[in-house]
Amino acid sequence: MGPDLLYSVPVMPYTPAPVFRFAPSPTGYIHVGNARTALLNALLAQRAGGTFVLRFDDTDEARSRPEYADAIREDLAWLGIPPDQVSAQSGRLALYAAAAETLKAMGRLYPAYETEEELDLKRGLQRARGLPPVYDRSALALTEADRTKLEAEGRRPHWRFRLDQRVVSWVDGVRGPQQVDTASLSDPVLVRADGTYLYTLPSVVDDLDMGVTDVVRGEDHVTNTAVQIELIAALGGTAPRFAHHNLLTLPSGEGLSKRLGHLSLRALREQGLEPLAVAALAVLVGTSEAVAPVESLAALAVQVDLARISRAPARFDPEDLPGLSARTLHHLSFGAVADRFAAGGIPADESFWLAVRGNLASFTEAADWWAICTGPLAPAIAGDDATFLAAISELLPPEPWDGATYKAWIAQAKAAGGRSGKALFHPIRLALTGRETGPELAALLPLMGRARVCARLTGVMA
Ligand code: GLU
Repeated sequence: MGPDLLYSVPVMPYTPAPVFRFAPSPTGYIHVGNARTALLNALLAQRAGGTFVLRFDDTDEARSRPEYADAIREDLAWLGIPPDQVSAQSGRLALYAAAAETLKAMGRLYPAYETEEELDLKRGLQRARGLPPVYDRSALALTEADRTKLEAEGRRPHWRFRLDQRVVSWVDGVRGPQQVDTASLSDPVLVRADGTYLYTLPSVVDDLDMGVTDVVRGEDHVTNTAVQIELIAALGGTAPRFAHHNLLTLPSGEGLSKRLGHLSLRALREQGLEPLAVAALAVLVGTSEAVAPVESLAALAVQVDLARISRAPARFDPEDLPGLSARTLHHLSFGAVADRFAAGGIPADESFWLAVRGNLASFTEAADWWAICTGPLAPAIAGDDATFLAAISELLPPEPWDGATYKAWIAQAKAAGGRSGKALFHPIRLALTGRETGPELAALLPLMGRARVCARLTGVMA
């Protein structure tokens, strides 16, 4: 039989839309290191036509606060990556209780009664004997009668997940093939004695329930992954793809801390930095493209390559931000900033933006230039320039004006006034803008209009 020609056309494989998630605990303001995680997830989801979920890991009631959750949502919106879906673990406790019951029924979640002091003592003895401080599973040997007796003494159990003690492997999107023998780990506590959950069970239950296909997070979670894969298997689920990116540090090498308020997005926003610059540096830090401006988040998304992320921590230098922020502004389209003008009540248009953007160190300066273009501006003419400026105001051509008007007018002014170089340009710039430097006058002139330009050249407030 010959080849089946009917099927000779390649068929695109069916790939369900991926689901990525960013899962911060709302216990403080997020920093650029958290932004790195959020951005990698959001941008990869965007690129793949998938979903970006924001999940608040807020089972720690004492430390989680709704105002931090609100702040995280605001910070993500500021970065330009609002989530497609938001959920909070505090509203999903019934799911975790059900999963815990399932695990108990399977004998994979068992009660243990040791106090912190007893566990410390055991670990100390193991270390003294040169053994790894792994939980000895003595709770598994307790009989029903032992447990009744302990409970009668007033002890309440915490609940440990019985690991399979096998080699768990996964292909990490950043780190490549990984293997962990779970026999080298303690059976992790999933539920505390007071019935509250540690991070592991809710995280796994949610990832399964939300259909998360990709977990991209900091490498501080690599050690949790083998346990999570075993737990996923125990609950009958399929493991997502995992990728653990390197962490960011301060220039000193010190790790970033949410608690210590290092490099919070909030503080960077208050400094007037461009969100796109912060995003670009947070994603690309440690690569050769790190301080080159990007045009848009979509352009940044194209540059994300998990496999190229270094294994070493990356130093994030906030000193790089003001320059990168300015260079980023210089390339932003009007569409990218129109909302901000509208929010500031400034009816700017594209020609204004294109005229001024190349001169801005921060976006707020655009408002200064708007005020300069639309007036009123106090006269700014040095005494001995007054006659010259009044004379060349007579040479202003009639409107309509365009980008070529200035050059034509200056050529005439030069011929008529006998001035050139700084003596020609400086008084004109000062009279028209009140400043020594600024955007090209050729672009500003049509924005100011003939009446205003004429007034300013003759020392009239306009
Ligand atoms: N709440 C955890 C954290 O903020 C989430 C870790 C994860 O992505 O699984 O570190």
